[in-house]
This record gives sequence, C-alpha cells and structure tokens, in this order.
Amino acid sequence: MNLTEWARAQSIHVTTAYRWYREGNLPVPARKAGRLILVSPDAAVAPSPAGRADLYARVSSHDQKADLDRQVARLTTWAADAGGQVTLGERAPFGSLVDVTASGFLDRQSLIRRSGSTRFVLWPRRTASGIDENYTMVLVYTSGGVESPSPGTSPLRRLRLGTTQVSLVPSPEIQQDGQAREAHEAAVATLNAAVAGRVVYAVAPSRPQTGIAFDTRVDPKEGLCASDSRVLAFTSLTLQSSEIVGGELVFCGLSSARTSTVTHELGHTFGLQHSPDERDLMSAVYQPGFSRTAFSASETLTMSLMMERRGGNRFPDNDRDLPATATSTLTIVCR
Ligand SMILES: [Zn+2]
Repeated sequence: MNLTEWARAQSIHVTTAYRWYREGNLPVPARKAGRLILVSPDAAVAPSPAGRADLYARVSSHDQKADLDRQVARLTTWAADAGGQVTLGERAPFGSLVDVTASGFLDRQSLIRRSGSTRFVLWPRRTASGIDENYTMVLVYTSGGVESPSPGTSPLRRLRLGTTQVSLVPSPEIQQDGQAREAHEAAVATLNAAVAGRVVYAVAPSRPQTGIAFDTRVDPKEGLCASDSRVLAFTSLTLQSSEIVGGELVFCGLSSARTSTVTHELGHTFGLQHSPDERDLMSAVYQPGFSRTAFSASETLTMSLMMERRGGNRFPDNDRDLPATATSTLTIVCR
C-alpha cells in the first residue's frame, strides 16, 4: 500500500505520516517507487502464533486468578498495526490488566481505566532518527538532567490530561523588548508545530482566568542564576501528582530571553527533561552559534508518545500504578 492509504488505515493524519517518513520516524518499512512511497506493514500484525511472538497481548482480570484458557481466547481479539497501535477488539472489563509485548517496542503494562478505552500506542525501542532506550530514559524519565545518577527512575511528567491551551505570560520587561518578545512568539510557534496542534501554546499579555499558564521573567538575582554564572535560565514546574499545571520560566539575563533558549524552556513546560543528544533542542548545554531552533524528529516523536500516556507512567511503559501525591515543584536548570 502507499503511504496515504497506510496513514488512513492507522487513523494518522497524512501530513503527519509524510513528516515521519521524511524524518526517518515512520514505524514501518517504506520505500520510494517513482512518486509513490510504498509501505510494508507486514511487520505489523495481529497476534502471532505463540513461540515466535512478534506481538503478545494479554488481558487478565484484576480481581480473579488468571484463567489461562480465557486469556488464550482473548488473544485472538487483539489486533495491532505496524505503528505500534494496539486495539482491543472486545471490551474488557474496567480494571482489567493489559500486558502487551511486541518486538521493536517497549513492554506496555496498563489497565483498562474506561470501559471504552481499547487503544494503546506502543513506544518504539529505537528509531532511525536516534531514539533508543537510554534516550527515552534520559529525556522523559529523569530528574536532575543528564548527570542524573539514575535515568529511568522518575515518572513521566506531562501537561494535565485534557489540556488544549497553554498561556505564556511574559513580564512587562520582556513584553517591551522586541527581540525577547519575538523569541517568545517563535518558541510558541515551534512547540505548536511539534505537537501538531494537539496542544496550543500562546503568548498572552496577562494571566488568563482559567487554564495552564507559565510566567516568564528576567531575574539575574535569582539564587540559581546568582550562584552559577553558567546558568542561562531555569523552569519551575508546578506538579499535581505527575501532571504539570503551571509554573514559571526565569531567564538569568535578557540576552537568554532573546534566543531559542525560550523554546528550550518551553520544552520543559511540556514535560521534556534534557536530551542526551547534543543536536537536540533539549540538549542540556546550550551551544551559542549552533542553530538549534526546532525540535528534532526524535524529540517530536517523543512528545507525541508522551501525549498518549498519563503522567506518572513509569519506564519502560507502565501506568498501572499512578499514586496521587500532593502539589510539588520541579525545577530544571539550564546552562
Ligand atoms: Zn533545560
């Protein structure tokens, strides 16, 4: 089939599929034939015979002892596509445990939280664009940056489920500075492009009554700025459990508020940590002169996969236990 047909079959926007193809993120083999891009979704596939399982999906009752016969019967009701999207063909009872193992994807452990929820998007183990397990651990499941002694141990943090609008509210100083104002507008546009409109960021002159907002300001005297001259900026996230509900961006000097550092900080407001790939916009260390104004293919795909998950998801891909915790603050320092 061609790429357009494949995208339609997967309920993926055709533009998105073409972008994935260009960026090397298409999760299925594809080749160019004249003006067509042909996709081979055979890697796909529905449940394979046991023994050489490409995909193994299991639903078991939360409160009953696993009934092997019933599990085997349920296996036949699964279907998976090549993009790692698994759809349950039959309604599973609320609270059923879900376990999906597929070659090329991280093991998914979840449970049915809504009676109608039958769709799970698997996280690729690696992509041609450079995602691998370490990349995912460091960019998503870390606190403390790339120096973190224990990548992979923090929960996934993301904007509150259901968020569609986020406001960026610059201080009067930033609003009056043409270049800083422009950098804020560029940051918002870059992030909106990366998430393909599923969340829309906007620069706002004042805090809206409702919705998620991040203040931005310049403050060289802030402790984190004053104590280390290498610090360019930091983002403080307000978290409820592992959902981001607001926060602020502090630039240590007006010059940082005029560059793509603003876009980098916006990546933190979305829930991205620091990337181990120096070419990424979310790289821990800003390299002046190195034009990194857009999110990479790997970052973009990661953002899309994050939106398919709940805050509190644990590496490799487990959201069965999402403990509710009090409001907390996470500060990410950027050099
Ligand atoms: Zn940073």
